[in-house]
Amino acid sequence: MAKGTGSEVSLKEIIEAAHNLKGRLVEWRRDFHEHPELGMEERRTAGIVADHLRSLGIEVRTGFGGTTAVVGLLKGASPGPTIALRADMDALPIQEENQVPYASKTPGQMHACGHDSHVTMLLGAATALAGFRERLAGQVKFFFQPAEEGPGGAQPMIAAGAMEDPKVDGVVGLHVASEMNVGEIGVVPGADSASPDSFSIRIVGRGGHAAHPDQGVDAIAVAAQVITALQTVVSREIYPLQPVVVTVGTIHGGFRNNVLAGEVTMTGTIRTLNADVRDQAQAAVGRIVKGIAEAMRATVEVDFSRGYPSFSSDPSMYRLVRQAAVDVVGPERIHDLDPTMGGEDFAYYCQKAPGTMFRVGGRNAAKGFTNPLHHPRFDLDEDALPIGVAVLVRGALSFLSGGEA
Ligand SMILES: [Zn+2]
Ligand SMILES: [Zn+2]
Repeated sequence: MAKGTGSEVSLKEIIEAAHNLKGRLVEWRRDFHEHPELGMEERRTAGIVADHLRSLGIEVRTGFGGTTAVVGLLKGASPGPTIALRADMDALPIQEENQVPYASKTPGQMHACGHDSHVTMLLGAATALAGFRERLAGQVKFFFQPAEEGPGGAQPMIAAGAMEDPKVDGVVGLHVASEMNVGEIGVVPGADSASPDSFSIRIVGRGGHAAHPDQGVDAIAVAAQVITALQTVVSREIYPLQPVVVTVGTIHGGFRNNVLAGEVTMTGTIRTLNADVRDQAQAAVGRIVKGIAEAMRATVEVDFSRGYPSFSSDPSMYRLVRQAAVDVVGPERIHDLDPTMGGEDFAYYCQKAPGTMFRVGGRNAAKGFTNPLHHPRFDLDEDALPIGVAVLVRGALSFLSGGEA
């Protein structure tokens, strides 16, 4: 039961509130979809968000570390804990190929990861929760975050105090899922997302005439051995029950059929779900590349660049959001998901407070919504929008009333 604020908000009220917002949600989503903005440039989006939050009487803070972030603070009628709900706002540098009235009006930019729908669902949740303000015991923070696709908006927001004043006690994020049908909700019981680290390798040999390989050092032959040997990081060095990806994504070297390549450059990614395995995999890549280059008379430079950390659901936040989703869509439409080897800067919030993310199914084959995220024809069934709103609202209210965590 809610602490000292009279009657609890019923499931029926929540679902009605979300349902009544449907028209508004579709308008918002299509407007954001038509006007995508890349990471750290989400000024139009942020402006609409801030204006709407203010119209609801929600306190608005901006300027976090010079970013476009908007944080709303809804204060309930009585004191209690603070939950943060997070949506990312950025689009991708992709040319949209959908032929729909709300297709992107900005050439080369598109909401191909569904962040337009995340902003929309969080605006919907803020609207519904503001309507229940008199019965809230505690605070709800709304994190509208820039640049999830990179360079990352969560870290500068946290550094600028987004998780403080009032201190956030729990955090929930959401993402649409193109492989899950509309009406279904995915929750993640354990590890959620990987650390998407990157590496670059420069192999320097000695060029020369291809007729005299003995007089040069063929950087392409070295690169071939390096790529082959890197496969053993996953297969021979890491504990077999720990997921690891090592991918060489680019390779450039040589310029003529009869000339030894003096130099090859390669870039790739290492993805892990565990901090120790992350260190171990990076060390193994470095050692193998250097050892092979030395054995074959080449020199090598290896640079690593670390991406977002991996993260796992907090068990009690997972249970809370799972129950909220069960309440909204029924137990048979809940999926407990495996982790993804993709990255998510939601991880940084989880370093500061217990957190979890849920996935909102947006696929509908009958309506032609089957393309994956980041596809130039990605689109989603907008019937997903009120469902996401209802799960956010139910989860937030349950957190504030001490339902879990
Ligand atoms: Zn994405
Ligand atoms: Zn995304």
